[in-house]
Amino acid sequence: MILYRLRCSAGHEFESWFRDSKTYERQERRALIGCPICGDTKVERALMAPRIGKATGAVEVEPPAAAPAPEAPAVPEAAMAAMTRRMPKELRDALLKARAEVEKNCDYVGGQFAEEARKIHYGESDKRGIYGETSDAEAEALADEGIEFGRLPWIPRGN
Ligand SMILES: [Zn+2]
Repeated sequence: MILYRLRCSAGHEFESWFRDSKTYERQERRALIGCPICGDTKVERALMAPRIGKATGAVEVEPPAAAPAPEAPAVPEAAMAAMTRRMPKELRDALLKARAEVEKNCDYVGGQFAEEARKIHYGESDKRGIYGETSDAEAEALADEGIEFGRLPWIPRGN
């Protein structure tokens, strides 16, 4: 599973999970990817934000420290809940959907994420989608090694 940051022709940015880059390309060609804000299917890949945690506008929400972890230490649960309440409903729904997809399709590896991602990348583990937590430093190291992964703001379920 990889997370792409996408931008529709109206300039809305959003993130979406794909099985792999080919899946994205196929869906993009068939106009199967819709902007969650305006429904536009003319989307293109935006650059992944290299740093998580910068202030953002109302639509392009990039929550602070978006490690995909319910207990990510960088994001106190209360802060995450407050942030979630400020999100546009469409974005919240999209994130919840993404979370559910990840939970359904990927193996949870907890704090072993970086280690396991490397094993998969180098063929020591079965190729599969995984999710878990990792530190900023580890995430940068993975990116340097050319390992594909994405970050998902792990927003709380419920209201
Ligand atoms: Zn749009």
